[in-house]
Amino acid sequence: MSVQPDIPTVTNDSMEDRLYTVKYDDPGESHLDVKVSDVCASSCDTNDCASVCPANVWRETEDGVPQIAYENCLECSSCRFACPYDNVVWEYPETGAGVTFKHG
Ligand code: SF4
Ligand code: SF4
Repeated sequence: MSVQPDIPTVTNDSMEDRLYTVKYDDPGESHLDVKVSDVCASSCDTNDCASVCPANVWRETEDGVPQIAYENCLECSSCRFACPYDNVVWEYPETGAGVTFKHG
């Protein structure tokens, strides 16, 4: 007779709960920006920077130039590759600052 292993009960935390556990050392100034604000305001209607960001860093505004909550950044680089106008300024935060991952 075969023995069936117990199936563990898994509960998935919400994305907000998971992000809340991320440790971030604020360097005091943003490592993210847009190169030319007018490109966002006048040329871009897709806001891909906001769409791809898993941490809700880029936020759409009425004037079309996104607000950037850099303190939430996971440093995944998705926004700089998603922008169809290559209009994202992306740098690593200064050494010792920024996000800390548990296993990395
Ligand atoms: S995708 Fe690029 S051009 Fe469009 S709003 Fe974001 S940074 Fe600006
Ligand atoms: S690097 Fe990743 S987490 Fe940071 S702002 Fe860009 S898309 Fe969002």
